[in-house]
Amino acid sequence: MVENMNKLLAGKVAVVTGGVRGIGFAISKAFAEAGADLIVTTTRNTDDSAAAVEQLQAFGGKVKIVAVNVADKQAVVDILQPAIQEFGGLDVLVNNAGITRDGLLLRMSEKAWDDVMSVDLKAAFNTIQTALPFFLKRKGGSIINISSVVGQGGNPGQCNYAAAKAGLIGFSKSLAKEMGPKNIRTNCIAPGYILTEMTEFMPEAMVTDYVGRIALRRPGKPEEVAQVALFLASEMSSYINAQVISCCGGMNK
Ligand code: NAP
Repeated sequence: MVENMNKLLAGKVAVVTGGVRGIGFAISKAFAEAGADLIVTTTRNTDDSAAAVEQLQAFGGKVKIVAVNVADKQAVVDILQPAIQEFGGLDVLVNNAGITRDGLLLRMSEKAWDDVMSVDLKAAFNTIQTALPFFLKRKGGSIINISSVVGQGGNPGQCNYAAAKAGLIGFSKSLAKEMGPKNIRTNCIAPGYILTEMTEFMPEAMVTDYVGRIALRRPGKPEEVAQVALFLASEMSSYINAQVISCCGGMNK
């Protein structure tokens, strides 16, 4: 049973990829507030995220930011692995990093396809393969992969993104079955339309269409996705494995 609801992640170590911006930052904040020590990643100069890191440190836990392109397996091994070692192990991994390179398939460049596959799908292979030995050592853990409603329902102009996010769901369900016997749970969150940099520049007509398809008639906030991640990271979800939880306000996909 969960004893201290305020400190759901006390004594836990978590990695959040893309953890200093958008949904990733909201997840990092929720985890830090719940008592976790955090390793967060960025592709930018780490100094650019000093203010975000300070906000996370204010909760009292240990916070480390590392610059790593999670699509690069060797970089993940060289940079993320020693950081986890430095923190003494790992309990929670959130694969949040993601990009979009939208366009109709007829005109989509091979690069737009490959880039999205690398960051939105292969990166999870890179981080999870790096993290698994640490989870095995701790005899348990929680892996949370941020998919999308687009991976469930598809979206015109996003064949690459939908394929990667649907792939992430299949990957997660298979891994959940491989690693369940080792008490390592793997689940996905499928956010709907959430207000972040990623969705900031959507055309007005698209915004109206999206909101019209959401039963709650509003976009979601990064913090609302973070609450689901906190649930999946903590012992509150100890019997949840191989699931996809949509966080989309009842969006008609
Ligand atoms: P965002 O504001 O654009 O943030 C994307 C994050 O991914 C940033 O933190 C970025 O880190 C990181 N990132 C991008 N490429 C990376 C790479 N190669 N290696 C490491 N990190 C990388 O987007 P968001 O809306 O918060 O999205 C977060 C996740 O939620 C994504 O997986 C996205 O597909 C998913 N999602 C979002 C929505 C939505 O409506 N917003 C809906 C469904 C799913 P730096 O910029 O610090 O380098």
